[in-house]
Amino acid sequence: MAFADGADGVAAAFRALYGSRPDGVWAAPGRVNLIGEHTDYNDGFVMPLALPHTALAAVARRTDGLLRLHSADVPGGVVELRPEALEPGGTGGGAGGWAAYPAGVVRALLDAGHAVTGADVHIASTVPAGAGLSSSAALEIVTALACNDLFGLGVPRWQLARLGRRAENVYVGVPCGIMDQTASACCTEGHALHLDTRDLAQRQVPFDLAAEGLRLLVVDTRVQHELGEGAYARRRAACEEGARALGVPALRDITPEGLDEALAALGDPVVRRRVRHVVTENARVEQVLGLLDRGETPAIGPVLTAGHTSLRDDFEVSCAELDLVVASANASGALGARMTGGGFGGSAIVLVEEAAADAVARAVTDAFASAGHRAPRLFTAVPSAGARRLA
Ligand code: ADP
Ligand code: MG
Repeated sequence: MAFADGADGVAAAFRALYGSRPDGVWAAPGRVNLIGEHTDYNDGFVMPLALPHTALAAVARRTDGLLRLHSADVPGGVVELRPEALEPGGTGGGAGGWAAYPAGVVRALLDAGHAVTGADVHIASTVPAGAGLSSSAALEIVTALACNDLFGLGVPRWQLARLGRRAENVYVGVPCGIMDQTASACCTEGHALHLDTRDLAQRQVPFDLAAEGLRLLVVDTRVQHELGEGAYARRRAACEEGARALGVPALRDITPEGLDEALAALGDPVVRRRVRHVVTENARVEQVLGLLDRGETPAIGPVLTAGHTSLRDDFEVSCAELDLVVASANASGALGARMTGGGFGGSAIVLVEEAAADAVARAVTDAFASAGHRAPRLFTAVPSAGARRLA
């Protein structure tokens, strides 16, 4: 089995690195978001599914408070640090770069009063980093679950997700919402996860595309445009400004029926567009949920495409490469397509009938070649299990 092999390989690499056996091996997946983009910091709805791609961690307990961290996927050796020395923003305590993710998780556990007395960690991940597929959340959640099990903390998964988010917000310095960590921690095989980011209520929604003769393609554009980071903060600020101007705790509280009235009350045309995206996107999540519940899966295609149009025109977080995936996929027979993740690059998803999948994949690849873009990476998203112990 692929997973058992992966666990063996990571355990062997741990032994070679630290000279002893790990106490266990854990896995946590990346995700794609089916629908509900830029809603998770507006108290809204999201619907991600876990990918077969996972971050694996071989971990052994320590008792001296020290963390030793190593990743097979980045250059450089073992990073040694004390999580108490970590400083907000991800620059302090010797944990520059990637180590701030796992170290931030341990620190967030300590901050919450959990006794984690140190660990040796070796990580190897098949989640492509920076492709909008949440390699960062996979890294956080695999660390969180390993600590939870090894130190007998008994923290529920939704809470591990919150601690992972805190690690990323505070100790890495990325103001992400709660979707990615919850997806990695809580998704289940064969399901998409409907999550209300206000009260964290979850529902596992059956999503067995193969049984319906359908396929969800992920197209990793392999670009990540620089403007992403600042733009994300500005989008968040515009959403907060909209909610303040409308006198609601969050844009989640504006219903589709109340949208016209809300838009009329907003003076700033940019804020108006941002608000319209969030309100219509929340409605699209509920629409997709209803269609899946009724077994009308192919009908979600146009809803995905409408979501893309809204992200492109109202939220303005798409880019030429993502627009090209959607246009070329839809022009060659896809049921629908949209960018997924934060935007400005990363990945798009395409819903296709099995019989059309190869032709659509070829059309997207050809369109990229004609436009002079680097060849995209395509794979099928099989709704997979959330974080788990492997050995
Ligand atoms: P995404 O989560 O969409 O992949 P992010 O920018 O949020 O993109 O996270 C990517 C970062 O996470 C990388 O730059 C790196 O610091 C860290 N990371 C992800 N996977 C690994 C890994 N296997 N080993 C070390 N660091 C990793
Ligand atoms: Mg991330």
